[in-house]
Formats: sequence, C-alpha cells, structure tokens
Amino acid sequence: MTEISTIAIVGGGTAGWMSAAYLATHLPKTISITLIESHNVGTVGVGEATIPTIRRFYQSLGLSDEHVFKHTDATFKYGIEFIDWYREGHSFIHPFGLFGQGTPEVDFHHYWLRAKKAGSVEPLAQFSLGVQLAQHSKVLIADTPAQNQLDTFDWALHFDAAKFANLMQQVGIERGVKHLVGDVKSFTLEHSGAIDHLVTNDGNVINADLFIDCSGFQSLLLQKTLQVDYVDWSSFLLCDSAFAVQTGKSQTMLARTQARAKSAGWQWTIPLTTRTGNGYVYSSQFQSHEDALQEFVSSLAGKPTSQLRTFRFTPGRLKEAWHSNAVAIGLSSGFLEPLESTSIALIETAIVKLTQLISTGHFSEDTRTKFNYATACEYERVRDFIILHYILSKRSERGFWHAVKSIELPSSLRDKIEQFKKQGQIETLPWEIFGKDSWLAIFDGFEYYPERYQSRADNMPLEYLNQHLAFMQQQISNLMQSAHDHTVILERMSYGR
Ligand SMILES: Cc1cc2nc3c(=O)[nH]c(=O)nc-3n(C[C@H](O)[C@H](O)[C@H](O)COP(=O)(O)OP(=O)(O)OC[C@H]3O[C@@H](n4cnc5c(N)ncnc54)[C@H](O)[C@@H]3O)c2cc1C
Repeated sequence: MTEISTIAIVGGGTAGWMSAAYLATHLPKTISITLIESHNVGTVGVGEATIPTIRRFYQSLGLSDEHVFKHTDATFKYGIEFIDWYREGHSFIHPFGLFGQGTPEVDFHHYWLRAKKAGSVEPLAQFSLGVQLAQHSKVLIADTPAQNQLDTFDWALHFDAAKFANLMQQVGIERGVKHLVGDVKSFTLEHSGAIDHLVTNDGNVINADLFIDCSGFQSLLLQKTLQVDYVDWSSFLLCDSAFAVQTGKSQTMLARTQARAKSAGWQWTIPLTTRTGNGYVYSSQFQSHEDALQEFVSSLAGKPTSQLRTFRFTPGRLKEAWHSNAVAIGLSSGFLEPLESTSIALIETAIVKLTQLISTGHFSEDTRTKFNYATACEYERVRDFIILHYILSKRSERGFWHAVKSIELPSSLRDKIEQFKKQGQIETLPWEIFGKDSWLAIFDGFEYYPERYQSRADNMPLEYLNQHLAFMQQQISNLMQSAHDHTVILERMSYGR
C-alpha cells in the first residue's frame, strides 16, 4: 500500500492539463500536485473533434457549455458523417443518439427489420433525431430529460485543442496545481523499481509518490524509463501516418465531423468558428508520403492558413498503463486513429478511473490491476469499433482498401459481428464507450443486416407497426421544427465575446 501525498504530472498537453484540473478539483486538498512541462517540446494539439463525454468532464469541473464555447472557438457536433466509405458517392451518419422507439422486450431495429422485410420502410436514419440534426446542421439543446427514446440524443464539440488545454490550465492553477516549466532530463529509481524523483535541465528535483506520464508519444516514464511493453495493433489498423493543416472558416457551419474515405485512408474536416481543421490519416504501406501529400493538399476546400504538420504513429496501447508508481494518460498510453474522435475520451475515462481509485489517498497492486484491466478493455473495444468501419467497406480499389478486407479480426470483434449477423443482437460489453445504437449506425451505414430479426417483433401486427413507424417519423419531424440553424446560433453566441 503506497500513501499518496504528492503527485507529479509530466507534460502540459491536453492530457496533462485535463489531469491536473480534474485531480485538483476532485482529490483531497491534502494531496499536492505539480505539473512539469517543456517549452522546447511542442504538444500534438490536433484533437479537435470530441464525443459527448467531454461535456460531462468539464461540467464536473464546474464549467458550463457556454463558457467552453466562448473560450475555444467551438461548434456543435451531433455526429460523424462517413462519406464514400461504403462505396463512392454514398454517405451515412453515426449520431450521438438513439434510433426509434423499441419496446421493453424488443429493440427498435428488430421492428424496423421486420417492416423492411415485409415491404418498404423508410431508411433507419429517418428514425434518429441525432442523424437529422447532424444532417441538416440544426441545433437542439435538451433542457429537460428525454420523454422517450425518440428525443434521446446528445451532442459534443469541435474545439481548438490548444485553447481547451489553456482552459484546463487555468482551472488547474486556480485550484492549486504548481506549474513548473522545464525539460525533464532523468528519472531516479528506488531499489523497488519505483520512481523516486525526476530532474529537470535546470536542476529542479521533483519527488512524488505517484507520477502521471502525459509526455505524449515519447512515453518518457512508462516506455522509456520503466520499459513497459507496447501492444502493437498495426496488423488490425493499417493507418500509421497523418497530415494536419488549417484552412479558413466555412460560411456554413456543419454540425458534424466529416470523414471522407480516400485512396489509402481517410480525410477529416472539422469546422470551428474561426477556421476549419483538416487532416489525412493514411497507411504508409500503401501510399508514399509525396503521393499522400499531393492527394491531401489537392482536395482541400480552401488555402492552408497554418503550417502543415506530419505525424507517424503505431496503433496500439501499453501492456500496462499503470506500472509501479507511474500511470500513463493520453498519447503516452496508446493511440488509435481519430476516426471516432476517441483519444480525448480515453483521456477522460483514464482520469476519472484514476481519481476514483486513489480518492482514499493510497494505491496498491489491486488498484493497478483494476486500472490496467479497465484501460485494456476500453482500448480494445474502441479498436474493434474502428476496424468495423474498414472491413464492411465495399470500395473496390486495389492496395489499401483491398488489404483492409483481409485483416485477421480480433476474436472479440468476430464474435460481435457473428452475433449481429445471426440474430441481430448487439451486446454492449463492460468498459465499452460506444453503445448498441452506435454499432447499429455503422452496420446500417454499410448496409450490413442480420439474417433474421428477433421473432418477438412478429407479435406486433404489421398494420399497427407501420402506424407506429409513421408516428415516430412525425414526432422527429415535429422536434426538428423547434431546432435552430447552426450557423445562426453560433453567430448569436459570439455576440457576447
Ligand atoms: C493526427 C491526429 C489527429 C487527432 N485527432 C483527434 C481528434 O479529433 N479527437 C481526439 O479526441 N483526439 C485526437 N487526437 C489525439 C489528441 O491530439 C491527443 O489525445 C491529445 O492531444 C493529448 O495529447 P497528449 O497531451 O497526450 O500529448 P502531447 O500533446 O504530445 O503533449 C505532451 C506534453 O509533454 C511535454 N513533454 C514532452 N517531453 C517532455 C520533457 N522531456 N520534459 C517536460 N515535458 C515534456 C510536452 O511539452 C507536452 O506538453 C489526434 C491525434 C493525432 C496524432
């Protein structure tokens, strides 16, 4: 059992400052927190698309949506549009919300499948308020609890990651985090193998009971110092490179992230109120740096307004995110391509888990085991969800899109697909970030349907079912009437700035 009275956080990127702000807010004030960051090593800072959990995270720090919007050039995000993924010219949306209204015994999609089999039925997307809001770039803010599944939806933000990190820094410092600027040069270990202290280039020595590694891809503590192994998932996820660049702001603000399939990967477009974020994530095995750059730059909608940035990464995670007295959070813990905007979400869950586990002011072997198990599950579930987007594609090009179809799937994903294919069931596993309706959105988006639906869906007379389906569409259309135009709402929100 190790008592914690001091914590040192290494790194001042998104992960470092989110950790600092949250721990300073939620841990007992007797624990002293110091954050050390280098001004010579930059941050990655391109995480601009989030999922709704980010709102719960900053709300738990006492920050309102309005405050975060005001300070981060944010726009609303109701989902992700996948363009040209299934085949060229096709697109679909993965919303932050549910599809239709089921019954306590039978999920909605079984009824929809039944109606589909019996004749014509409107596309599944017509039964999702989230899809409609994202598709039409409309804003609806749920200020009362949802009355039923039809008006259950959520939203996230696109934001300037550097400005969000600044906001977290402000909160952290206000709540007592000590801030030190310096390059960490070395770590000294105790006989037990635990880290005793670190030394910076200007001679500062920092002792701590617990070290949090937020040093980004360098993984200074866990990989470089403690030699923790990395679980490499390049055989499952072929993309290993990316470019990112900004262009001017768009006149019409989309309330969704766009992910467009390209010849050896995919390209993101993220609207902010002050600019547009663009990036190309691709596989260097199937496209040279020069060709990828050419394809990316030539497809940009506007002129670049920032330096182009280049990234290389190995998809995967640390075998143990917590080893000895050091915990990795953020890119130092692992990285999965940002197709479903999950990196910041994995930072949030790591911070929340850590806080819960050490709230008593100490940790033990058992604490580490729990943290490592949950972290491994979370990464694996996200990995499986991302792979699904590739293997269901019907794009026919040789090279990358051919290779992704012959990926040998992890058994966890194989089982999940099999279960859906045979019975139409989608099981949500422990520590899964994406629920049933997210998986359904991807299966449906790729027109991948089960061999049979749940037979209990047949208990509802067809005429009655069709009436219900029509009623649901009407209700969504009524809700859409009260939604506001995204561009107009953002303009109104900026008046106060
Ligand atoms: C191409 C790309 C696109 C992405 N898109 C998204 C997205 O849309 N959504 C999303 O959720 N996530 C996205 N991410 C991930 C997201 O950017 C990161 O999860 C997030 O920025 C957190 O990074 P970090 O803080 O772990 O690391 P970094 O930003 O790299 O910060 C590392 C910190 O460690 C410090 N440091 C390093 N060495 C030392 C040293 N020796 N001494 C002291 N300090 C040191 C640095 O100065 C820096 O402060 C994307 C990532 C990439 C690569």
